[in-house]
This record gives sequence, structure tokens and C-alpha cells, in this order.
Amino acid sequence: MEDSPLIRDWINGHKGEILGALVEFLRFPTISAQHKYWGALEEAAQWLKGQLEGLGFSVRLLGEPPVVYGYYAKAPNKPTLLLYGHYDVQPPEPLELWESPPFAPRLTTEAIYARGASDDKGQVYAHLAAWRYFIETYGELPVNLHVVLEGQEETGSESLYVVLEKHAPEWRCDAVIVSDTAFFAENIPTLTVGLRGLVYGELSVEGPARDLHSGTFGGVVENPIWALCVILAALKGPDGRVHLPDFYAAVRPVAKDERRLWRQLPANAAHYEALTGAPLSGEVGFTPLERIGIRPTIEIHGIWGGYTGEGSKTIIPTSAHAKLSLRLVPHQDPAEVWQRLEEFIHRMAPPGVKVTLRRLHTGAPAFETPTDSPYYQVAAEAVAKAFGRWPVPLREGGSIPVLTALHKALGGVPIVLIGFGLPTDAVHSPNEHFKLTQLWQGIEALIYAYQGFGKL
Ligand SMILES: [Zn+2]
Repeated sequence: MEDSPLIRDWINGHKGEILGALVEFLRFPTISAQHKYWGALEEAAQWLKGQLEGLGFSVRLLGEPPVVYGYYAKAPNKPTLLLYGHYDVQPPEPLELWESPPFAPRLTTEAIYARGASDDKGQVYAHLAAWRYFIETYGELPVNLHVVLEGQEETGSESLYVVLEKHAPEWRCDAVIVSDTAFFAENIPTLTVGLRGLVYGELSVEGPARDLHSGTFGGVVENPIWALCVILAALKGPDGRVHLPDFYAAVRPVAKDERRLWRQLPANAAHYEALTGAPLSGEVGFTPLERIGIRPTIEIHGIWGGYTGEGSKTIIPTSAHAKLSLRLVPHQDPAEVWQRLEEFIHRMAPPGVKVTLRRLHTGAPAFETPTDSPYYQVAAEAVAKAFGRWPVPLREGGSIPVLTALHKALGGVPIVLIGFGLPTDAVHSPNEHFKLTQLWQGIEALIYAYQGFGKL
């Protein structure tokens, strides 16, 4: 039976209702990085609890900030899936660059604008909408479900790690499904099969006990900002290679088949320039998709110290700081990379300053998922049916650190990353948005996917 027209009719008839609920969800300023917003995390968790209970789930809030855990087990003899997602968001700053306030969702004919619209509230809500379709149409879901929605994904999932330890044994499932990733481009669907790992630290360089006159003392004490620049510059070469010893020893070459598939995608310099407003750069000898998918990198995210106010001030400052991170690929060990980073920084520091490296994130190894599981196949068919084009399996450069822990805690079941964001969504940036066509077709794809999972 061809049910696509019925499903599309249902979605068309429910657009107002779905957007109304999504707007409510997006209004919670769920910024996990800032403690003063933890009340909003609690409120959003309560709101999600209400939504899930309305769909027939039994729900508990676990940990602090709460992990929303929902359970639906009314489909005997059907597979059990676990949906993982997050309801926390990145800080919205710089606020002045937002065309409308980040937590006052704005709808245009094209998209919904708000912090979290694409990452990850819009994508999480697409699942709730898909489940509503089944409840309204058939009175039940085609599968059993555990729902795990955390409020700390953007800051290291500390609370979820604790909850996992205690509750993962109760969350037996056949596969995990996650919608927190993006297509390669609009009309070029992709399913994410790899994510990079992460190591994140803050580097501090301390020098004199107080800011010094740079004439009186310039030439006899080390300048911490200068020392910081020396260390940072030593970390990476002009060829884009990271200079930590043995950094690439564990990195494996990409499989030929995968390379061939990637060549179908127009991932050229013009594509990245259009997305970023900057010319293509990076490690020599690799294509852009390889640089993002299978090569590790190092980045500096912020750097401060000394006098940055108006006019001139002649000082040697007391200290200088930088935030930096490395994205890791499969077989690189975050603990080992961290240790090498620490050793390297101390070795490169000029005499006369004290350097410290403080860890700011739990960190995580890279993640890979196979394309030969039946769950991946169902997801690929569902995306093909809703978007009219077969998805290419692609490795993304970002990280969802907790996936590795989930994978392990749940006994190594397949994880399917079926995300509907677009690289133009401005996630983690001002004016984040979720394209409405991606939302509607995403819901359609999820309905097909759950139908398909129910038949496995
Ligand atoms: Zn996310």
C-alpha cells in the first residue's frame, strides 16, 4: 500500500500544531554552560515530560540537570529502539548579531529562527511529531521505545554519564537512533556514519606578579602573551599538520569505497567558501571531506590577556590565556593526546613563565557506525523516500561525545544517525535556524523509518 500521500496529508494538516509546540520548546533558554540557566533546563525537562506522557510514555527525570527518560513498551514482539537527543543549547552570544532574540522563536516562510532550532530541539521534536502520527492514526507506536533526552550535551554530558552508569542495564534495545546531524547540503541527503572525537583545554601562561612598565622592564622579563604565541604557533605547521609527537601514528587511511562515495558530493572550494565566507584552507594532500571526516585537527577558540581597551598602554601583562581543542579521528586515544599536548606545551614554553593546561571538557574518542546494519538500511530507505534521493554515508567533523559511552553501555548495538539539519543552519552561531522543508520532510522520513523499524 502506498501510504505517502496519507502521511503527507497528515503532516500538512498538523503544521500549525507542530510549530506551536516547537516554539514553546525553543522558548526555554536551556544554556547548559551557564549555571543561572539550570532552572530553564529543569522547566524544559518538565515540558518534555508532559509531551511524552501525552504520547503514552511513562517518564522519569533522572539526575541534575535532568535526563528526560521516557519508556513506551506496548508493541510486543517488535524491536525496541532508543532515541537519544539533547534539549540544551550553546550560549547565544554575540547577542547583537541576532536579527531576533535567540529565545523568542521567529517564523518566516522558509525557516524557524531560534537558538536550538536545528541543534537539537527541532530535530528532537521531529521524532515526537512522527510518534504523534502513529498514535493519532493507529492508536499505538510500531516499535517499543526508550527516549533519552539530556540537558548537558553541549558541555560534556556529565549528568548523563552518571545516569548511564545506573540505568543503562534497564535500557535494553536493538538500535539507537539520533537526529543531531546535518545533510551535506539541501537536496543532497547524507547519513552520518562517523564523528570526530574531542579534547578541550584552557592554556594559561603566568608571568610577572603584576603588570609591569614595558619600558622599565622590557627585555628583562618574559612577556606571557609572547610566550603564549610561541607555544600556539609551535602546535601547527603551515601545511596544516599538528606537531604533537606521534599524533598521526594511529590514524588510518580511508577505505577506497568510502572515498568513491564521497566523490559524488560537490565538496569543492566554492562549496566551502559559500558556507563560510572564507577561502579553503587546511591540511595539504587531503580533500575537504577527508580533512573534515578522517583527519584530526587543532583549533584555537579564544585568546586573551593584557590591555585591549582604547588607546595605548605600555605594559608587560601578568598573564595570557587561550582556549584550544583537538578533533580526533578513529583509533586516536583522547587521554594519550591530552598527555602529549600537556608535555608539548611545557616543552615549548620559554623560560620565565609558568604554563598550565586545564581540561574543560570530558573529551571523547571518535565515533564510527557501520552501514550494513538493517537499521541503517531502513533509515537510508526512509530518507530516500522522503527526500527523493538516496543518502550518501558521510563522516562529519563534529562530535557527539556521549555516543561512544552510549554504544558501550548498551552492549554495542547499532547507532543510526539520521539528522536533518543543513550546514547553513548557523548552529552554534547567531541566527540559528531550521529550514521548514527539512522539518516537514524530516518528519516524513522518520515516519517511514519507524514503520520500517517495526517490520524488522
Ligand atoms: Zn547537538
